[in-house]
Amino acid sequence: MGIKVAKFGGSSVADGIQLTKTRNIITADPDRKFVVVSAPGKRFDGDSKITDLLYLVKTHMDHNLPYDQIFQVVADRFMAVQINLGLMDLNMNRYFDEIRENLKKNPSADYVASRGEYLSAILTAAFLGYDFVDTQDLIKFDSKGRLLAEETNEALEAELAKHERAVLPGFYGSAPDGSVKTFSRGGSDITGALVARAVDADVYENWTDVSGFLCADPRIVKNPKQISSISYKELRELSYMGASVLHEDAIYPARVSNIPINIRNTNIPEDPGTMITDNMDILTRGDRVVTGIAGSKDFTVVALYKNMMSSEKGFVRRILGILDDYDINFEHLPSGIDTVSVVMSNKSIDGQLDEVLEEFQSRLRPDSIDVIHDIALIATVGHGMDRRAGTSARLFTALADAGVNIRMIDQGSSEMNIIVGVENKDFETAIRAIYSEFVEE
Ligand code: ADP
Ligand code: ASP
Ligand code: MG
Repeated sequence: MGIKVAKFGGSSVADGIQLTKTRNIITADPDRKFVVVSAPGKRFDGDSKITDLLYLVKTHMDHNLPYDQIFQVVADRFMAVQINLGLMDLNMNRYFDEIRENLKKNPSADYVASRGEYLSAILTAAFLGYDFVDTQDLIKFDSKGRLLAEETNEALEAELAKHERAVLPGFYGSAPDGSVKTFSRGGSDITGALVARAVDADVYENWTDVSGFLCADPRIVKNPKQISSISYKELRELSYMGASVLHEDAIYPARVSNIPINIRNTNIPEDPGTMITDNMDILTRGDRVVTGIAGSKDFTVVALYKNMMSSEKGFVRRILGILDDYDINFEHLPSGIDTVSVVMSNKSIDGQLDEVLEEFQSRLRPDSIDVIHDIALIATVGHGMDRRAGTSARLFTALADAGVNIRMIDQGSSEMNIIVGVENKDFETAIRAIYSEFVEE
């Protein structure tokens, strides 16, 4: 018998009805031995995610405002599920009290946010009759907040060998001092992949609220086509660029051990979903050039011009040095003769743009600096693109026909990805135009 690791996202554990679907899925296959859960997500449009409420608790705490009512909303949601599922033997109050005590000590935002997954896993474990295994001491980060992949793998492997079946909370582990450290948002996907690697699973199932990876964000394109199979590489490009269905860092742990990832829909469990592997043979991609389209808003492009730049040694290195000083990550660095553009997310710039521009001016002495604000980046991804001439021409024509002005182009050397920068306001129009050119054809 093999082992399957199943991760259930926020909507799959949002209430008693969803948790019952989740249990039915798990019990339908005895191989589903290790389960990773998110914190309860939205039950309906306009509802709050538990994680967002917990961050709100922390914000109140930081401003010396009362936070107990918000925490009570969190506790009430778990209590309602518990009652709904008839889990009367479980003493949830014990855990709420433990958290309330810790909240008095002004804990980190990471600790507070992580309690959604903690409570969710305790409740799910009781509902399934599985062991609860906390990930706090098993998933390890270094002092800079980077995952220690090998140490984590060893710790998870050793602990999970002691359990026949277990539920683990997603999203967090611990820093070297033992305090809770979370991944970035959506990070339960990473926990699921780490567990899959540690138990050498046959498959990592990621159960969510869509029937797999779609060719475009369903909130932008109406009824986008489903992708039945996709390579790790394509998926990584798409999720990195904003296809939020799977956290981009969830791919590496599965990929190193060659574990296929299967995205599935908790509400339509019979749908086979999307299979993600390295095996190109099983890819039933047909003749389609483009596998998927993804993107996100709110980037800034700084274009530097300098005559004879290409013969000036260390120019790019100095750009990177300045970014490093301000702890800013760049997303892309498209360059031409005598020009380099630095593309950064506004989030990463974190209000330091003026200082960075001053440093560019004084340390690089460019002839000119142009800043373009409010840019959205869109990636059009597909292994088929390198074999087809004229893909870029088709893409640019489709955007021009839709009245979208392209502000930046970056065709990565992988030749399976063309990235365009457009104005934020054109983001949705551009995605729909690319979709109808390449997918709807
Ligand atoms: P979970 O809570 O299960 O982790 P997420 O909300 O993180 O779920 O991810 C699923 C959501 O991702 C979908 O409901 C959908 O709105 C969004 N999404 C964005 N891009 C895509 C895409 N290309 N394919 C499928 N879903 C996408
Ligand atoms: N609950 C966390 C979040 O909302 C992690 C996750 O759901 O994966 O980001
Ligand atoms: Mg998610």
